[in-house]
Amino acid sequence: MTNPQERQPMQSFHLSPTGGPALVIHGGAGAWSSELSLEASGSYQSGLADAVAAGADVLGRGGTALDAVTAAVVSLEDNPLFNAGRGASLTTAGTAEHDAAVMDHEGRAGAIAVSRCARNPVLVARAVMQRTPHAFIVGPSADAVRGWGLETAEPDYFVTPARQRQLEDVLAARTEASRSGTVGAVAVDGRGRVAAATSTGGMVGQSEGRVGDSPVIGAGTYARGDTAAISCTGEGEAYLQGVVAHDIVSRMRYAGSSLEQAVTVTYDVELESRSATGGTIAVTPAGEVLIAHNSPAMFAGYWNPAGTRVFA
Ligand code: ASP
Repeated sequence: MTNPQERQPMQSFHLSPTGGPALVIHGGAGAWSSELSLEASGSYQSGLADAVAAGADVLGRGGTALDAVTAAVVSLEDNPLFNAGRGASLTTAGTAEHDAAVMDHEGRAGAIAVSRCARNPVLVARAVMQRTPHAFIVGPSADAVRGWGLETAEPDYFVTPARQRQLEDVLAARTEASRSGTVGAVAVDGRGRVAAATSTGGMVGQSEGRVGDSPVIGAGTYARGDTAAISCTGEGEAYLQGVVAHDIVSRMRYAGSSLEQAVTVTYDVELESRSATGGTIAVTPAGEVLIAHNSPAMFAGYWNPAGTRVFA
């Protein structure tokens, strides 16, 4: 069996700038076979295709990048196969704790961590950005979520039998199944505005209260209007320590690297040295697309006016 944490040479899929809109999503990086063991691969393909369609629909109607990434991530959060929202990975206590972040082309950001009651964590992160003076709220209360006009759910809503079995296996060390997952989306709209969103239940069997890179602006999620929008998935501690999403954008800004060079060098410098695996999706304001990972596999998909594809 392939060790899910085994690093592979970086694999990437790249599309040149089109000058038009584009959307990229991911459904987590890990080991193909063990991710798929939750259910047949066709279900993942259709879940990814649904999420791409949700975001593409927004962009196709002339909507904003922020609306597109939000719509795509909501679709993945509602799908119990992916590690976000319903069906998120469970902590050692068997509970779901969600982290999420959004960032737009104006440099505005919103994030939540250790959320236990928001049905769609990405919408709460967006509410933090748009409806509060804050950028990051830990443990948003049900009253606050409802006060922003968003839905709450009981703890049981998030917990699926497949995730309970996965947690038991991981805690009993009966499996080498990937302990990670996470979903995310990046987009550029018809006016060249970029946005990024990431949402996760974290690592299977993580300690209660543990927060990974996904909601931390600059680590797992980052966007700059003149450079790129980035969403990452993988071993969160390394992405936090390497401030990976920000590092990619900084290499483009300060070193003049291309998007592909910036991702490759950041992975070499920040992740290889930490023996960490994962993946990154990115778009630029000009419509360039990149999907890259050094894990055995990554669930992903993209849309632009020239075509669409899902990787599962
Ligand atoms: N990066 C996430 C975390 O560490 C997990 C993942 O993407 O697989 O919480």
